[in-house]
Amino acid sequence: MRLFSKWCAEEIEKVCSRNDHKPAWENQNILTILDKIHEEYLEVLDAVGSCEYWGNEDAEKHIVWECADLAATAMMLASKFDNKTKNLRRGNL
Ligand SMILES: [Mg+2]
Repeated sequence: MRLFSKWCAEEIEKVCSRNDHKPAWENQNILTILDKIHEEYLEVLDAVGSCEYWGNEDAEKHIVWECADLAATAMMLASKFDNKTKNLRRGNL
């Protein structure tokens, strides 16, 4: 696995782990997940645009977090269209 892919997976896992207490997303419909992707995209824009982030470690970590949050949400949508994952429950994915 590429180091970049491994890093992405690790960042997405951090987001998923922190959100384990939230209601399951597996039964959400596609339009609901698309709305969530849009919300997450706006959070990325806000994180990048609302601060002086170059050299600000906390701000940079926040941007990485929001990007991973967006990626995780996009992969929730992707899982709806993947035969290996669409019937699995949280914890098995
Ligand atoms: Mg977010």
